[in-house]
Amino acid sequence: MILHVDMDAFYASVEERENPVLRGKPLIVGGSPRGRGVVSAANYAARKFGVHSAMPTSRAVRLCSQATIVRPRMQRYAEISHEIRAIFARYTPEIEPLSLDEAFLDVHGTQQLFGDAVEIGRRIKAEILSELQLVASVGVAPNKFLAKLASDLEKPDGFTIIAPERIQEILDPLEISRIWGVGRVTQRKFEARGITTFGQLRMLGNEKAQYLFGPVGEHFWRLSQGMDSRRVVSARRAKSISHETTFAADVEDSEVLLARLLELTEQVGYRLRRADRLGKTVNLKVRYSDFHTVTRAQSLAVASSATDSLWKVARELFEGSLPKTRKLNLRLIGMGVSNLQTNRPVQLGLFDDSVEQQRQSAAQSRLDAAADSVREKFGELALQRASVVGKKKKGSG
Ligand SMILES: [Mg+2]
Repeated sequence: MILHVDMDAFYASVEERENPVLRGKPLIVGGSPRGRGVVSAANYAARKFGVHSAMPTSRAVRLCSQATIVRPRMQRYAEISHEIRAIFARYTPEIEPLSLDEAFLDVHGTQQLFGDAVEIGRRIKAEILSELQLVASVGVAPNKFLAKLASDLEKPDGFTIIAPERIQEILDPLEISRIWGVGRVTQRKFEARGITTFGQLRMLGNEKAQYLFGPVGEHFWRLSQGMDSRRVVSARRAKSISHETTFAADVEDSEVLLARLLELTEQVGYRLRRADRLGKTVNLKVRYSDFHTVTRAQSLAVASSATDSLWKVARELFEGSLPKTRKLNLRLIGMGVSNLQTNRPVQLGLFDDSVEQQRQSAAQSRLDAAADSVREKFGELALQRASVVGKKKKGSG
């Protein structure tokens, strides 16, 4: 069995925990309502007003004017995330974090020691509450797809088991939009065929699903009956690291797109450095307003975790490799690295790097370290290497 542990309104809950004045009242953790700030997290009191994460803070404030807004403190959340992971690690080494506040745990190997998966899930939830005064929702199920689905079913403060013999009974009535990867457009396609629930998709059968929806038809049909064979991959074994953003409204402004791409590159570089790994191949993904998706990849001469090296390639891909025939109007932009390597310390001078190259890369490391500490203090959204993006400004050539 697999566990999926997902903290409830994590950033907001941390802020409430650490500042009693905020408790129980609408709270938004996010950027400034002036400018392009977005909501990183909202507590449940704010969500009642329709506020949700990734929404522009300006819009959130219009929906819920009485909300308190606090800036994200990523370093604090990262620290607490470590404490949560330390609790997981008491029960299994097989931990696959999806973000600071959720992770898959494979407990196959340790069930004999600690009781069954349900028992382990209950203990983890109880220890997070008693030791950290935070609430987690937990899903227990035979695979990742079902475990993630389960943790969401009774959120907040949920504990949901999907036993193998009850999969069909639990899944059949669920809305199709709960299937991983089914967005609004796919959902509409299904609805046009009269399919609104998992059960209806399951009953359609594999062949008909493929006939109607193409190759993804089979994928979704398998998920509709809870079939998923992906394994839990712990961080040290990850094959790639990536981040992407879906815009609330399509974006044409290449300056805005570049700024976002840089932000994503910063995040990817930061994760590489924290995991002590290097990436060899840079991947760019864009999705146009008509949902056409293009991916591009290019390898670095030398694997790196330096934001600047990754950014150079990401920017080249963005500016030079996208189809010229398409109008740049994007609903999604993503950046990732693959071909990961473990970062082994290299003795300076041992190889044929010139002194100048060494000096540059040392300077780059200091810049990254400084950026990382800014990020940890003020949050992902605080950081922008404005000078790099600024070069594209109108009038400056
Ligand atoms: Mg969460």
